[in-house]
Amino acid sequence: MDVDYIVVGAGSAGCPVANRLSSDPKRQVLLLEAGPDDKTPLVRMPKGFGKLSSNPKYSWHFPQAPFPPRHQAETWVRGKVLGGSSAINGLVYNRGNQADFDHLAALGLTRWSWDEVVAAYRAIEDNPLGATPTRGSGGPLKISPVRDADPICSEVIDAGAALGWRAVEDLNETDDERIGFSMTTIRDGERWSAARAFIHPIADRPNLTVETGAVAVKLLRDGDRITGVRVRRGGVEVDHHARREVILSLGSVNSPKLLQVSGIGPAEVLQAAAVDVVVDSPRVGANMLEHRCFVIHHRLKENVGYNKLLSTVPRQTLSALRYYATKRGPMATPAYDVIAFVKARHDADRPDAQLLTSPFSLAGYDVKKPMLEREPGMQMIGYVLRPESEGSITITSADPDVPAVITPNYFQSSYDREVGVGLFRKMRELFETEPLAAHIDHETHPGGLVDSNDEEAIIENALTSGYCGYHSVATVAMGTDDSYPLDPELRVRGVEGLRVVDTSVVPTMVSGNCNAPMMAFGWMAGNLILEGG
Ligand SMILES: Cc1cc2nc3c(=O)[nH]c(=O)nc-3n(C[C@H](O)[C@H](O)[C@H](O)COP(=O)(O)OP(=O)(O)OC[C@H]3O[C@@H](n4cnc5c(N)ncnc54)[C@H](O)[C@@H]3O)c2cc1C
Repeated sequence: MDVDYIVVGAGSAGCPVANRLSSDPKRQVLLLEAGPDDKTPLVRMPKGFGKLSSNPKYSWHFPQAPFPPRHQAETWVRGKVLGGSSAINGLVYNRGNQADFDHLAALGLTRWSWDEVVAAYRAIEDNPLGATPTRGSGGPLKISPVRDADPICSEVIDAGAALGWRAVEDLNETDDERIGFSMTTIRDGERWSAARAFIHPIADRPNLTVETGAVAVKLLRDGDRITGVRVRRGGVEVDHHARREVILSLGSVNSPKLLQVSGIGPAEVLQAAAVDVVVDSPRVGANMLEHRCFVIHHRLKENVGYNKLLSTVPRQTLSALRYYATKRGPMATPAYDVIAFVKARHDADRPDAQLLTSPFSLAGYDVKKPMLEREPGMQMIGYVLRPESEGSITITSADPDVPAVITPNYFQSSYDREVGVGLFRKMRELFETEPLAAHIDHETHPGGLVDSNDEEAIIENALTSGYCGYHSVATVAMGTDDSYPLDPELRVRGVEGLRVVDTSVVPTMVSGNCNAPMMAFGWMAGNLILEGG
């Protein structure tokens, strides 16, 4: 097919990019997605994420290179369906701090300043709490705070308030130390993915073609110009051509991978993989930032929370039936009902850690088979908001079917270790604070395995029994100097006709979860391209 623009990857960023580009009826847009359509009811049902993320039909299961201290191998999950990770994620809608975007502007990336980003948030959001100078109402993306949470969640918020964290109605309205019910991409009990907000409402645009089941395997090139994408669909390879641009929105694992197998990346990595070097771009796949979750579980004294409603197949079936009849109950809630942004180091100038709580507890953590405990429990995870340790994504073969090597290098930086230790102690402190403490029987994980005074044990436990935060960024980062793969308008340096728009592009971590910032970035990037930027 010949079009003006090909957007590869229909995720958080790709969907709004395609929406904006196709808003001009004169421009033909092709949106390619490796995964299937999003018709399964598990996408709309918020708690469907457990089944979606464990199913390779709807999720990529990327192997992560074994890492110290135990050399365990882990699996990184990312969405593989129309809507991308926004269709299988935990539904938390967290926008990042003003200071994050001010920082991008200070790096010379002025198009991504807070003022610009907040204008995008105002354009895309439909927040039932109403519009303010920084939040939107009436936009295509329906969000709302958690409703019908288990009563123990209010005890968590009251305990946080007792520790001096501000209890707030909308966690996105301030950057202070704060705690409150999650803002979510849920409305009336249903998920609002990027596809639902930005693609379904415009599906009848004659200038937009959406192709699912289409796996991009290589970029096509004519001299210095990227001219299209080779796609495998149903076992057949087809070439699609773009008259103006190809936009990569494959996420922070597959965007650098597709660039590398197409000859754009660090020369030594490409040569070792027997790929001809088109552009020697050392930072493609480098500088990766990712959260590592610290995990604490508690046994509750009373039989409250969601374990009793979700821990067995019959209980899940009953909860699902209730959900389909009423759109309420635990199946209508996000992965985490209460969130806090806190200062793990008391002298930090703004929150440096995020804590997320849910009134259920996992029996171990296996992304391919998530199971809840039968006894009543709660879990809390926490992570360093803006980690500094840098990992990488590198190919080892020119074959696009060979997985890239993911090396996260968690806690290489002393800053990450210091904040990590501090936030773990805060997590414990919260559960020792009334009114929450009265409900806690004991800490089941890590419990006696980790002494709060033992910094090494705290970090080691996060490495051996924590998990990845699903928020990897910066693998194809933008920057003003030529060492960055992207210029500030997200154009790939060294070739023409190619941009990247997804979590790969931010050079520093936006505080917290990435779905909201990527939808805003996709919206902004689409407008930028339309304006000829
Ligand atoms: C399990 C999980 C839970 C999460 N929970 C939250 C949360 O609660 N809140 C939050 O804000 N963030 C959460 N995140 C993170 C957030 O959803 C992601 O950071 C964000 O969606 C990434 O956006 P993206 O556009 O970079 O990539 P994605 O949304 O992942 O989109 C990339 C798309 O490209 C497609 N693709 C990849 N390779 C190819 C190829 N070769 N050919 C064609 N298409 C391809 C993928 O299938 C996918 O649809 C979670 C993520 C996961 C995985």
